[in-house]
Amino acid sequence: MRGCSMENPRITTDIVIIGSGMAGLIAALQLSQTRKVTIVTKTSIGAGNSEKAQGGIAAAISANDSFYDHIQDTLAAGYGHNNERVAKKLIEQAAPVMSAFFDWNTPFDRDDKGVFQLAKEGAHSRRRIFHAGGDATGFYMMKQLKKHVAENIQVLEHFMAYDLLMAKDRCIGVMGKNKENQLCKIYAGATVIASGGCGQLYPVTSNAEEATSDGMAMAFRAGVRLKDMEFMQFHPTMLFSNGRGAGLVSEAVRGEGGILVDEAGNAIMKNRHPLEDLAPRSVVSNAVFEHLQAGKEIYLSTQKVSEFTKKFPTVADNALAHGIDVTKGFLPVRPGAHFMMGGIETNEWGRTNKNGVYAIGEAACTGMHGANRLASNSLLEAAAGALLLAQHLPWQEQVTLWEEQEEACDIGNSPEIQALQENMDQWAGVVKEETNLLKMREWLKSYNHFIFSKGSSVLIKKDMTLKNMMTTAWLITNGALVRTESRGAHIRTDYSDEEPEWVRYAVCWENEKTEPVIRLNQERGSGHEPAIS
Ligand SMILES: Cc1cc2nc3c(=O)[nH]c(=O)nc-3n(C[C@H](O)[C@H](O)[C@H](O)COP(=O)(O)OP(=O)(O)OC[C@H]3O[C@@H](n4cnc5c(N)ncnc54)[C@H](O)[C@@H]3O)c2cc1C
Repeated sequence: MRGCSMENPRITTDIVIIGSGMAGLIAALQLSQTRKVTIVTKTSIGAGNSEKAQGGIAAAISANDSFYDHIQDTLAAGYGHNNERVAKKLIEQAAPVMSAFFDWNTPFDRDDKGVFQLAKEGAHSRRRIFHAGGDATGFYMMKQLKKHVAENIQVLEHFMAYDLLMAKDRCIGVMGKNKENQLCKIYAGATVIASGGCGQLYPVTSNAEEATSDGMAMAFRAGVRLKDMEFMQFHPTMLFSNGRGAGLVSEAVRGEGGILVDEAGNAIMKNRHPLEDLAPRSVVSNAVFEHLQAGKEIYLSTQKVSEFTKKFPTVADNALAHGIDVTKGFLPVRPGAHFMMGGIETNEWGRTNKNGVYAIGEAACTGMHGANRLASNSLLEAAAGALLLAQHLPWQEQVTLWEEQEEACDIGNSPEIQALQENMDQWAGVVKEETNLLKMREWLKSYNHFIFSKGSSVLIKKDMTLKNMMTTAWLITNGALVRTESRGAHIRTDYSDEEPEWVRYAVCWENEKTEPVIRLNQERGSGHEPAIS
C-alpha cells in the first residue's frame, strides 16, 4: 500500500487507527480480517506505555477465582465512581482476551509443572495477574502482537496525528505530519483513537515519551466529549535517583512482600489502611507524598522479597543502571504520574458522542476504573476494549472528501515543556488545593491564544505536542478545581472528604467549550447535584 508523501498527501482507507500500543494493534489485527486498516503511530511501531507494562494483566479465569470477585475489587478500588455495567462487561472479556493472547503465543510465566504463576497486586483479593518475563509483561505481549502485524495492515511510523478531520459533526479521518514532516490527510470511514495516556505532563512519570495526551487534546478540539480528567493516578513507587524519576517499581514487588519504610525503617503504611502496603494506589501515594513533604526519604524495602532480581529483572536492571545497589534491599521511591482514568468518553464498544470517531485503551474513559484504577486492569481494558470495538464497529463505506479552511495557529511566546511539567507537579500534582489550582489555571490562561487557537498544520511536531499537553493540563486543572471533594486519585486538601452528592456526577468537556459541564451519570450510585463553587 502506498504511504503518504508530498506526491500523495491524501490516503483513503476503511479504518485509520491512531496509535500502535496494545489497544491499537489488537484492534488492527481484528479489523484487518475484513477491512482495509491504516495505523499511524508517532514513533516506531509498538513504542508506548504498553511495552513498559511490568506487573501483568488481570484475568479472573482460574478455577478458584471469579469474575464477580474481580468486579468487586475493581469497584472497591474505584471509590464508587466506576461505571459498574461497563466494568462487568470488560472484566468478563478476560476469557476471550486471554484465549487471543494464548493464540498469539504470549509466553506467560509458568512454574516447573507448567502451571501459570499468578501474581497478587494491590487491592486484588486473589492471585489473578498473568505476567511474562517476570516483570517484563508488556514487552513480551507487544513482541508477540507485533509479530502478527501482516502486510495487509498499512503502518505509517513516525506519523504524528494532529487533528481529526470533521465534516460538520462527523469525523472523516485524521490529518497529521509524516516522517518527513509533510502534512497528510487520511480519509477513513472510521477513526479509532488509541493514542494512550498523558503521564508526560509531569516531571516524574512512569510513562513513555509518547504519552503526551495527543488523542485527548485532538478529541477536545473536535468537540468530542471527554470526562473525568481530574482523575490522574500517581503510582506510589517510582524509582528516584539524582533528583529524577528513574522508572517504575511494579506493585507486584509489594505483592511479594515489599514494604514502604522511612529512613528509620518504620513501615509507613502500618495502621494507615487495612491492606497496608497493598492499599489502593491513591492511598499509598498520598502516604508517601505526606512523608516526602515532611522532609523524609522513603524507601521500598525488598528485604522480605525472595529472589528479587529473578522475579523483577526489569526493576533490578533499571535500578542498577541508575546506580542503585539492589542488594541492600532499599529502593528510593516517590510517587509519579502513571495512569489517566479519564479521557474520551466511550461506551464499552468504543463509541464516542460523535459519529465516525472511536476511542480505546488509555485514551478512552469507559468508566471501568472509576476514580482509581486497580493494578493490572488497564492492559485488560485495552485488550478487551479493542476486541469489543472490532466486533461492533459499524460498517461505514462512504468516505467524504472535505477541504476545510485552516486558520493560522498563534504560537506566540509559548513556554518550554519543562515549565509546564514543573508547574503541574507543584500546583496540580499528587495532592491539590484551590489556591494552587488557580495558580495553574492563571499560568495556562496566559497562553490561551496558543492552547485554543485553530490551524495546527503550521506547527512543527514539538510545538504541536506542547499544545496538546497544555490543552490537557487545562482540562486536568479545571476539572480538579470544579470537583470539590476528594475521591480516589483526586485528592484535595481543602475538600478532604468524599462527598456523597458527587458520586453520580462526572466533570465533562464537550463542544470545544473551555469550561466544564457537570453531567449526571445514570449508571452510578445515587446523589444530589453538586454545587459548583
Ligand atoms: C511503566 C508502566 C507500567 C505499567 N504496568 C502495567 C501493568 O503491569 N498492568 C496494566 O494493566 N497496566 C500497566 N500499565 C498501564 C498500561 O501499560 C497502559 O495503560 C496501556 O498499555 C495503554 O495501552 P494503549 O494502547 O492505550 O496506549 P500505549 O501503549 O501508550 O500506545 C499509545 C500509542 O499511540 C501512539 N501515539 C500517541 N500520540 C500519537 C499521535 N499524535 N499520532 C500517532 N500516534 C500517537 C504512541 O506512539 C503509541 O503507539 C503500565 C504503564 C506504565 C507506563
